[in-house]
Amino acid sequence: MRSLKVLILEDDPFQLMALHQMLNANQVFEVLTAISVETALRALERQGPVDIAICDLQMDGDDGLSLIGHLAATSLAQAVIILSSAEASVLDGAAQLARQQGINVLGVLQKPASVTAIGELLSEWLALVEMPGSASRSTTSELPALPPLDATHDYGAEWIAYFQPKVGLDGELSGVELLARWQHPSLGLLAPGLFLPRLEQAGLMPNLTWHMLELALSLSYRLLLARGRALPVAVNIPPQMLDQADFVPRLLLLLERFPVRPHMLTLEVVEQSARQMAVVQFENLLRLRMAGCRLSIDDFGTGASNIQRLLELPFSELKIPAEFVRGMADDRRKSAVVGGALFMAQKMALNVVIEGVETREDYEAVSMLGSPAIQGYFIARPMSEADLLNWLDELEHHPERVLGFRAVKPDRAPAGR
Ligand code: C2E
Ligand code: CA
Ligand code: CA
Repeated sequence: MRSLKVLILEDDPFQLMALHQMLNANQVFEVLTAISVETALRALERQGPVDIAICDLQMDGDDGLSLIGHLAATSLAQAVIILSSAEASVLDGAAQLARQQGINVLGVLQKPASVTAIGELLSEWLALVEMPGSASRSTTSELPALPPLDATHDYGAEWIAYFQPKVGLDGELSGVELLARWQHPSLGLLAPGLFLPRLEQAGLMPNLTWHMLELALSLSYRLLLARGRALPVAVNIPPQMLDQADFVPRLLLLLERFPVRPHMLTLEVVEQSARQMAVVQFENLLRLRMAGCRLSIDDFGTGASNIQRLLELPFSELKIPAEFVRGMADDRRKSAVVGGALFMAQKMALNVVIEGVETREDYEAVSMLGSPAIQGYFIARPMSEADLLNWLDELEHHPERVLGFRAVKPDRAPAGR
């Protein structure tokens, strides 16, 4: 329903990440983030106007008030939310100043903001602007004409997996992620963005997930038989599937059918809703860890997977999404965010995978920060099983042919420390 685009200006990387999560928890996924007025203006210039700007008031250098001034002059935001730890009178003064410049002030929030407080302000805004038929960009309207799905039909033969490797900065393979593709008889090879919403509508996500789990374990097991080493595989699990009481027993049965050690399997879970995790979900996560499977927080910092929750749940890995990495080379503040997450993960003994490492610049920027695993076009695009098998052979025998970088020795101290 919501297609809001929101800019966050906040100079503290952790608070920035938290706010981003709160927006996602409120179903807002088009988010520009900035750690200074200057980057905010650049982001607006590049990515166009936003509906709402959330502005932190106090910052080193130009402050939130100066962004508000720019917004008033350029109309690059329709409304602002003012955020600060200053006392109420300062907040009110700032709001008044903004209104005098013709800015629509949705609200003022004392730090720390909460999901609910932000949600309320967003709802108020939507109530103000939402008209029937107003241009809400729904993903489903952009779908090709997929014939109606039949929940009883077995699509297993058409649902295939592509595989994208994750490697350490030492060049070691840390595993492959399965990414679903639909080899559609009339529409050709479809990317998940095109069909996942449809599967969800049709209640077919569990079918897809079980199918992908089977493809993952079957490949891993075949490699164990053929080469003496199982392949570490990662599968995306919709969080709702953790509601099912039979999820873990059924997975254990699959692991009996394809007997690789459970830690060869990583379950990547994205959180999308802010609701308290149900007891059964928590139990299932714990049971999965007790069974030896690995759990990964996908798209860390963009879902409701907040830092508090991270401390409570038995995750073993976090994946930092492309949006934090993209252009990190030119943006010291982005590297501060990624560096901060890496630092925190290290303290909590979590593995980190950085996704969307697309260019040499991205790679070099990441390698300055520590030693996470990386995934992205710079290493390899998602590929078919046949291509993966060739790629793995090359990695083993001629790593220089497939890796775009010279592997660094594991004992190299991270730069800058
Ligand atoms: P994700 O889990 O975050 O997967 C990473 C996505 O980033 C993949 O898109 C991958 O192709 C893309 N990617 C990887 N490296 C780069 C890069 O360097 N640059 C850019 N621009 N993109 C890169 P894909 O395959 O289109 O999948 C999109 C999303 O669909 C996935 O995001 C995941 O959330 C979902 N998805 C895919 N397969 C499955 C599945 O089997 N089950 C479920 N539940 N979700 C799936
Ligand atoms: Ca994933
Ligand atoms: Ca991801």
